Amino acid sequence: MTNEKGKTALGRLRKIRPFIQASLNITKKRCGNPRCRCAQEGPLHEAALLTWKEENRTRTLYVPVELRQEVERWVQEGKLLKRLVAEVSQAQREFLTSKKKPRKSNKG
Ligand SMILES: [Zn+2]
Repeated sequence: MTNEKGKTALGRLRKIRPFIQASLNITKKRCGNPRCRCAQEGPLHEAALLTWKEENRTRTLYVPVELRQEVERWVQEGKLLKRLVAEVSQAQREFLTSKKKPRKSNKG
């Protein structure tokens, strides 16, 4: 039981792809090798880091270059999933509201 909005959101939910609820950030850093170019003039190394919250702590995970695009898709899908969950919830609330019977007056 749902309404049109709910059907649309559920239809998209059924096609959900692998997702992750985290953000992907590109940072620049030194690798730590004192003989590397980055220790002196640079440029620094780019690193992709996945960041998320776990029990109120920020966690990070290194993402290899060859997986950046793939992980970015997971992140986008994770955002879509969050939006769809909110949409279905709202649709169900609206559905309930539409079923509410008009109140009869107490004093009739
Ligand atoms: Zn380096």
